[in-house]
Amino acid sequence: MTDQDRLVWFQGGIIPAQRAKVNALSPTAQFGINVFEGLRAYVSQDEQGLLGFRLNDHFRRLRESSALLGIDCPHSDADLLRIIRALISANQYDDDTLIRVILMIDGPGSWHSQQLPTLMVAPIQKRRQEPATWTGLHAQISSWTRIDDTSMPPRAKVGANYTNSRYGLLSARRDGYDIPIFLNRNGHVAESSGACIFILRNDTLVTPPTTDSVLESITRDTVLKIAAQLGINTLCRSIDRTEMYLADEAFICGTTVEISPVLSIDRRPVGNGLPGAIASTLMTEYIRTATTPPTGNRPWTTQLTCD
Ligand code: PMP
Repeated sequence: MTDQDRLVWFQGGIIPAQRAKVNALSPTAQFGINVFEGLRAYVSQDEQGLLGFRLNDHFRRLRESSALLGIDCPHSDADLLRIIRALISANQYDDDTLIRVILMIDGPGSWHSQQLPTLMVAPIQKRRQEPATWTGLHAQISSWTRIDDTSMPPRAKVGANYTNSRYGLLSARRDGYDIPIFLNRNGHVAESSGACIFILRNDTLVTPPTTDSVLESITRDTVLKIAAQLGINTLCRSIDRTEMYLADEAFICGTTVEISPVLSIDRRPVGNGLPGAIASTLMTEYIRTATTPPTGNRPWTTQLTCD
């Protein structure tokens, strides 16, 4: 099945992706008026089908983004889950999958239109990374400042926020780097273009607080919880640019990138310039957690298919 043949949910039904057409005059097409989520489903470690990871947390964030942008989210968690299950089955997906969920204002209108949004759900197979094949990333401290809560809240996962991400990523690539790391208006480290950031300094894993112009990342939260369970010290506090240069390890994290080591920042090697041991341990534990069938005390995973 090609990318265009895969089946998506659009305007209330399952159709091939190539037939999912957005009105060119719509607020989503013209102004990026939409909110979205990227979710993951992984093959369960007992190979009993696919497990969605922290779906309820993604659904909650979708609802919060909608509320902030003034869009009504007419879908319950149960609705969204039913649609995701139907799509995985219709596409006959049985390997690790990335699922995009978008609420868009796709009728004619302007940036201030308040009509009900249309739901688009689009899964695509995407294998998890393996630390053994990590190549690592070279990062640039961006000359672009991260958007912030006084103008375009990064807390809301809004399509238009990614114009800021685009400026930073294209500049970084033009200059020969893989990713940007944005500073916020106060000059503290915020996040990358589509992922959060962690550094290891003095045996403590440090990440900026969610009030430092970062998305309230679900992977960031997972990493903090997993690290605590492994007995690794963690700290959420503002990070200065020069601390990035002195870090023993650095990595970005997010649903799509999972945990990806950063090998250099502004051409200065991070630690010994190789993927870090803590990042590797966390990635292994992250995948173990996301592929563990749901249990009573921490139902982070949801069964999506049954073999
Ligand atoms: N920051 C930004 C700007 C992102 O786009 C993402 C990816 N959703 C993240 C952080 C990581 O968020 P999450 O772990 O919830 O995927």
